Amino acid sequence: MLNRLSRDNLVKIAAASVVCIAMVGILALICLVISKNIKEDEHAEVLGGQDSSLIEDFLTPNEYSRPGKPLKKVKGIVVHYTANPGTDAKANRDYFEGLSVSGSTYASSHFIIGLDGTIIQCIPLDEIAYASNDRNDDTISIECCHVKKNGKFTYETYNSLVRLTAWLCGEYDISEKGIIRHYDVTGKLCPKYYVKHEDKWSQFKEDVKNYSGSI
Ligand SMILES: [Zn+2]
Repeated sequence: MLNRLSRDNLVKIAAASVVCIAMVGILALICLVISKNIKEDEHAEVLGGQDSSLIEDFLTPNEYSRPGKPLKKVKGIVVHYTANPGTDAKANRDYFEGLSVSGSTYASSHFIIGLDGTIIQCIPLDEIAYASNDRNDDTISIECCHVKKNGKFTYETYNSLVRLTAWLCGEYDISEKGIIRHYDVTGKLCPKYYVKHEDKWSQFKEDVKNYSGSI
């Protein structure tokens, strides 16, 4: 009698265990599907298109800021700061556009990231920009807006920079070595805060690597 009861109990416990394991499995599957969707959404945001945080606002072709020379091979990504505290992405984009009329200098950038993280793309990725001197011919440039003279990026600007850089590294198969500052090309104090704080620059590259690993 006792044996029989024990056996019945064992069968019940075994059945309950199977149900439990099945439920955990289903739950894990649901979590996996949800996290995959979130990751895909993040990726879509970086890719632009429907995403409101990336705006294509190409400059008018002109010799001072959009010369239309082909960018044949991308070997690096160059990070800059605007050196114009408090100005936003649109104002800097319009400054580049204005050069087509004023002709006062040669300057532009593929991307400008605003104070709220909005990214404006000024130049198509198969054309060069005038941003990084000797490296204009084989790099993509990103200008970042900043609030103060010290050149530190806002949280939102920084986040967009990490995501955009990670996406470009994936698109062009660029390793950490290919992520450089204007300073690394010419010695110019640009992007100022990340030249003066070497640890923050290292952290940035680490953040790009970690973000790349998550998408
Ligand atoms: Zn620069």
